[in-house]
Amino acid sequence: MKAFLAGAATATAMIAIVTGIGGYIWLTADEGGSDTATETTFAAVARSDALPDVKTHNKIFEKRIEEPIPGVHVAIGYGLANVIVIDAPEGLILIDTLESIRAAEGLAPWLDKMRENTGKPVTDVIYTHNHADHVFGAGVLLEGQDHVPRIWTQAETEARVNEVVGILSPITFKRAMRMFGTYLPDENFENNGIGPRLLSNHSDGFDFIPPTDVIDDYAEVTMAGENLILMHAPGETGDQLAIYLPGRSLLLPADNYYHAFPNLYTVRGTPYRDPRKWAHSLDMMSGLGAETMIPHHSQPVMGADEIHKRLTDYRDAIQFVYDETIRMINAGLTPDEIAERIELPPHLANAPYLKELYGRVDFAAKAVFSGTLGWFSGDPADLRPPTPGRQAQLMADLAGGNDALFAAGEASLADGDAGWALILGSQLQRLDDDRAAALRAAAMRELAARETASSVRNYFLTSAAEADGFTLPLASISASPDRMLNGIPIDRFLGILTTNVDVPAVVDKSLSYGFEFTDAQNYTIRIHRGVAYLEDGLADDNVGRLTTTTDVFRAIAVQRRNPAKVLVAGEMQVTGSIAGLTTFLGYFNPPLQEN
Ligand SMILES: [Zn+2]
Repeated sequence: MKAFLAGAATATAMIAIVTGIGGYIWLTADEGGSDTATETTFAAVARSDALPDVKTHNKIFEKRIEEPIPGVHVAIGYGLANVIVIDAPEGLILIDTLESIRAAEGLAPWLDKMRENTGKPVTDVIYTHNHADHVFGAGVLLEGQDHVPRIWTQAETEARVNEVVGILSPITFKRAMRMFGTYLPDENFENNGIGPRLLSNHSDGFDFIPPTDVIDDYAEVTMAGENLILMHAPGETGDQLAIYLPGRSLLLPADNYYHAFPNLYTVRGTPYRDPRKWAHSLDMMSGLGAETMIPHHSQPVMGADEIHKRLTDYRDAIQFVYDETIRMINAGLTPDEIAERIELPPHLANAPYLKELYGRVDFAAKAVFSGTLGWFSGDPADLRPPTPGRQAQLMADLAGGNDALFAAGEASLADGDAGWALILGSQLQRLDDDRAAALRAAAMRELAARETASSVRNYFLTSAAEADGFTLPLASISASPDRMLNGIPIDRFLGILTTNVDVPAVVDKSLSYGFEFTDAQNYTIRIHRGVAYLEDGLADDNVGRLTTTTDVFRAIAVQRRNPAKVLVAGEMQVTGSIAGLTTFLGYFNPPLQEN
C-alpha cells in the first residue's frame, strides 16, 4: 500500500468523500424543506377556540421575570422551559439555559443586567436534565462574563445530550417538530403544553457547554456560598436532578412536576419512562416540606401545604395509571382496550394541574403496556396479520371498491367520526388513491380542533399540512459553534455509518477499514456479510486507513470543511488509496428518510 497525498486526489474522489462521510450524518445541509409553511398550506386550520382550558393555559406562559422569594428569579416564556437564577452570597447560580442560541439571546440582556446590578458573575450552572430546552443556550448565557463557572449535571446527562447526533436522529427530529408545531403559523398555534413555543427548528444553533462536575445520586454542595442539595430524581427523564435549597426552603423539581398531566409517553418517541420511578421521586420531593416550589415549566407554587398537595396528587395520578394499567393487563386487555377504559378518579382528573394539556392518560397506559410486555397485545389476531397493503386492499374490497371507501371516509368525517375517517384515508393512501391526502388532512384538522393535549394537536396539524404538500426540513447543525460539535464523541459519528451499511452491496463481503485519530482512540469499521460494526483500535487486516484529528473528522462529517482542502493542508492522510477509501465509504448509504 502506498501513502496517498492530497494533491493527487481527483475531484470525483473528493466528492465521494464528502458524500461518503458527510452524507451519512443527519446533520446535513438544509435541504428538502422550507423555513415556514406557506399560508395556503395552513389556511384551513382553525384555532382551538372550543377548548377553554387550552386558552387559559396560554396565560401561564406569558413572558415575564418573577421573583417569588427574594433573590430567586424565574424567567418564564423566553423559551419552552423556565430559567432560574439564584442571587447567592458570592455569585449567581444559573439553573437551565433554554433550547437554542436564538432562545438564549432573548434572555441574555436580562442576565447581563443581573451581573451588572449584583456585581457577581455566574459561578455555577446546573442542568436539571438532558432535554434540549434546558441545555442548548448555555454558551450564549455565559458570553457576558470572563469567569469560568462550574457546570453541574447528573452523571448520565452529557451522554444523553450527545444523542442529538445519533442513529435515530432523522426520525426523532421530525416527530419533535410535529409535536411542537414548530412550523405552524402563529394563527394556528396555541402553546406547547409546558411552555409557550419551542424556539428551535432545523436552522437553529445549539451551544451546550459540557459539565465539569457530575452527581450520581445525591450531593450536598456549596455554590457561591449557598448550600444546595442535588438529588437524582428519575422521572420525565432518567437523569433528572431535583434541587433543594434548605436555607430558602425552596424546591426545584425540574420537569418532574408541571401544570399539566405528565408526559409519561411523548409522541415524538422516547424510551420507556417508568412511572414507579417518577412516583418515587415525587415522594422524595414532597417529603422535603418546601415552602416554595419552582418547576422548570409553568409557574411557581407557594406554600408548604399547597406544594405537598400537588406533589401528592401528581404522584397519585402517576401511580394510578400504572396500577390500573397493570390490573387491566392481568385481566387480559389489549393496549387499545386499556386506553379506552382508563380514567383518573374525579378528584385527580379535575385538578387544574392534572389536565391533559400536555400528556394524555390513555397514552400513558399504552406506554406502561409496551414498557412492561412489549409490542404484542396478546390478541392472536395481532401475531400474523395480513400486510398493511393487503389489509388496505381487503378493506376496499369489503367496502365495494376505492370509491365506496372514500365515500365512507367522507361520510364519517361529516358524522363527526374523524378518527375513523383518518383510518379510511390512510388505507386509501396505501392504495395510492389521489383522494387520500385531502381526506386525511381534513380528518386530522378535525381531530386537532377537539384535542387539548398540545403535543397531539400540533402533531395532527403539522401532519395535515404535510398531507397537503408541506415538507418538513431536515435537521442541521450548521448554526452550532465548533465547541458544540467537538464535544460529541467520535464513535457517535462512526456509529451512524455502521447502522446505514448498504446490505446488498456487502452481503458477500468481509473487510475492515481503519480510522486513526491522532488525538483520541482509534477505530476499525468491519464489514462482515451484510453487517458493519465498530471495533476499538486498528486491525491488522485493515485494507486502508484514514488518519486525522477528531475535530477535522467531525467538521467534514457535518460538511463544515471540505475534505479536499483538508487533504491539501495535510490535516488528513489516507493510507492505501483514495479509491480504496471511496470504495469503502460507498458501502454505506445516507440514512433513509421518511417520504
Ligand atoms: Zn423541559
